[in-house]
Amino acid sequence: MPEKLKMPSQELHSEAWWIRVLDDELTPDEEVRWGAHLLQCESCRQELAALTRVDLFLSQVPAPPALPAGFTDATVQLIANKQRWHRMLSFLAGSLVIALTSLLVVGVARSALSSFELGVGVMFFARDILFHSLVQTMLALLVRWRTILPYVVGTALVAYALVVPDGLLMTFAIVWLSSRRRARGMA
Ligand SMILES: [Zn+2]
Repeated sequence: MPEKLKMPSQELHSEAWWIRVLDDELTPDEEVRWGAHLLQCESCRQELAALTRVDLFLSQVPAPPALPAGFTDATVQLIANKQRWHRMLSFLAGSLVIALTSLLVVGVARSALSSFELGVGVMFFARDILFHSLVQTMLALLVRWRTILPYVVGTALVAYALVVPDGLLMTFAIVWLSSRRRARGMA
């Protein structure tokens, strides 16, 4: 097998070769060639020793503990429960926010309404007072009117006598003059 022996050493440094070495896939002939190469190649010896140590270390690392039976289902259930709790908490928080907002809005509206009612009430109350005092004033005026009514009627009659046509004044004058003349004739 002269061709195989003439194989360039580069091929023994290839990644594919090393994979086959580490996986124990070398043919007996290749094992011989590999052994002969290792005797004369320092870097391959060191690399193989290092890789062997790593392999040994990995083989000594204890395997991770096996998952208990039903672990996946339990985990899925836990996540689902957490999501359910999250949804419930979100719902509760949202409800709380809505309730507080509603309370706030209702409170503000109620206070605004009450102040509005108060204002309206004050308005009505003031109007009541005004109306009451107006009625009282009217009543008082009416009562006084009765006492001053004769004077008012007299003043009105005098004013009327001053304003009426001369005929009435003349009548008064004639009556007055005739009465004086009668009095003079008697004297
Ligand atoms: Zn080498």
